Amino acid sequence: MMHRCLLLCIFALVMSDEKTRMAAYSALTEFLERKRLRKTSERFHILDKILSMPGQFEVEDICKAMADDAYRVSRATIYNTLSLFDECGLIRRCPSTDTRARYERAAYATSRFQLVCLQCGKIKDVKDAELARQISARRYSAFHPSEFSLMVYGICSRCMRHNKKRTINTTNTESTVRIKKQ
Ligand SMILES: [Zn+2]
Repeated sequence: MMHRCLLLCIFALVMSDEKTRMAAYSALTEFLERKRLRKTSERFHILDKILSMPGQFEVEDICKAMADDAYRVSRATIYNTLSLFDECGLIRRCPSTDTRARYERAAYATSRFQLVCLQCGKIKDVKDAELARQISARRYSAFHPSEFSLMVYGICSRCMRHNKKRTINTTNTESTVRIKKQ
């Protein structure tokens, strides 16, 4: 029983890591396409290294991690890639008095926005890079955010059309009744 629980826990951890990785990959892909930049294997390899960093990291850490994989990439490329990831909202530069830039993963990597219809219950996933960036830039005392989710409730366009039709039909029936009464 204990063994099974442990296996389930490990499975859940692996799944959430994979989910984070997929979300980060799709955010980067979308960003590069939007900016008309090349989807080089280097950029995705650097992203993988960032996702494996436990906390804050600096350019040197990425250089070392890439070298450990025998992946030859210049320091300038890593600098440029990190500033690109910062712009994309995947990482953020940590405020520091030091001249050396330190980064950390932004909550955007695992964030999600959903639109929920109160009438039919349909849930739609949407992307809002700008809002995600603003939320992930927020800081809270004695708390380190790792991800977030935002649900916006309302009425979907299908239900809105349906309601409009129903209102028209009801109005028509009412006027028919009124005509009959006269
Ligand atoms: Zn609906």
